[in-house]
Amino acid sequence: MVVTRFAPSPTGYLHIGGLRTALFSYLWAKKNGGKFVLRIEDTDKARNSQEATDAILKAFQWLGLKHDGEITYQSNRDKIYAKHIKQLLDEGKAYKCYMSKEELTELRETQMANKQRTKYDGKYRDFDGTPPEGVDPVIRIKAPLTGEIIVKDGVKGDVSFQAEDILDDFVIARADGAPTYNFVVAIDDHLMGINEVIRGDDHLSNTPKQIIVYDALGWDLPMFNHVPMIHNSAGKKLSKRDGATDVMAYKEMGYTPAALLNFLVRLGWSHGDQEIFSMDEMIELFNPKDINKSASIYNTEKLDWLNAHYIKNSSNNELAQLLIQYDLVLTSHDKKEILLDAIKERAKTLKEMAELAKEILATPSSYDEKAVKKAFKGDAIAVINAFGAKLSTCEELHLPSDYHHIMESVVNEMEIGFGKIGQPLRVALLGKMGGPGLDVVMAVIGKEETMLRVANVITANS
Ligand code: GLU
Repeated sequence: MVVTRFAPSPTGYLHIGGLRTALFSYLWAKKNGGKFVLRIEDTDKARNSQEATDAILKAFQWLGLKHDGEITYQSNRDKIYAKHIKQLLDEGKAYKCYMSKEELTELRETQMANKQRTKYDGKYRDFDGTPPEGVDPVIRIKAPLTGEIIVKDGVKGDVSFQAEDILDDFVIARADGAPTYNFVVAIDDHLMGINEVIRGDDHLSNTPKQIIVYDALGWDLPMFNHVPMIHNSAGKKLSKRDGATDVMAYKEMGYTPAALLNFLVRLGWSHGDQEIFSMDEMIELFNPKDINKSASIYNTEKLDWLNAHYIKNSSNNELAQLLIQYDLVLTSHDKKEILLDAIKERAKTLKEMAELAKEILATPSSYDEKAVKKAFKGDAIAVINAFGAKLSTCEELHLPSDYHHIMESVVNEMEIGFGKIGQPLRVALLGKMGGPGLDVVMAVIGKEETMLRVANVITANS
């Protein structure tokens, strides 16, 4: 069974790059009928917070990504890590190193002065003398001194690391006993049964260290898939300056979960030239072997395009549900269908949609000056008065076409162009120029509200 994981360090919000690897891991597990588990890497007490963990969970909930089983918290697993450290010490695969800070600094400076790679020199690797007093030892693992470690990567192929060039006996537990990052990741991935690791390629250089831990404990390696980073259009790593990196900011901006997930799956993965993927399709088609080998480029226009697509193709009931988050409750509005049909073609985001709808539903409290100047020339008041009078005599007004007929008959009776009624009526209904068709607006707000808005504009401009 395929078991994948997402293993965020809870230091802030959920980053969209993190969400992308979480999505890839989720899809691969689901495709294989496997499990996608969540591990919170909260060992850095100074930088981790409960709010950050909550933010990650909230983002998952918004996007409908469900992890399987209980969440694993590294902060609860001290005993497990201690047990494995002891095992490695007992087997002579790790050792206590008593080098003081000063000694280490001196070593580093000498190496730098000699233009050598800075690394631990193995002083205590085979030490069997009396340890110096007053130094709490760190625990180091015995790394291979020569040869190579090959990371068999599903995305990058075989990546070879030369022991002499990059490895040394790295610390697996600090002087206070706290285990280090590369050690706990390997322990947890093994004990949690993770057999496919999908993560950002910023972790590739950690992988040989994790492999040393697996080897020391005699464990099989998982399959590694290191995903190239997301870049901005200038080819640099995505940063806050390029737009939002916090997943929840996308919710605030009015993106739908479907659009954001579709956008992210295409950042670094492709299936022919297909752009639109439902969740079911993503699950069916995703395979880490199709992850691109080079960095992907973040493109806001693409996200907007996808979002408009999902908005346009959502049912009005779905949209009404999604719009609740933007303070717009239309779920039981009797003209919901007419309203949403009209505005879902016009909006790029749910936020824009909510704003458009609110503009239609609220009685204008003021009028745009320029629009008034333009619309209320000549006999505009007389025209709109005539419209109001005709409207008051009509019954059974439901559809936009019902209102359109009234406008038409006023225009015909007064022998004027459509603009002569359209402009003042638009100011009456919306307080400004622009916006959706007036017949739609009136059908949504109904006869009484239309009459009120007409009366208001006449009072304000006569
Ligand atoms: N906790 C690490 C991070 O947030 C990820 C570890 C991993 O995926 O192996 O960058």
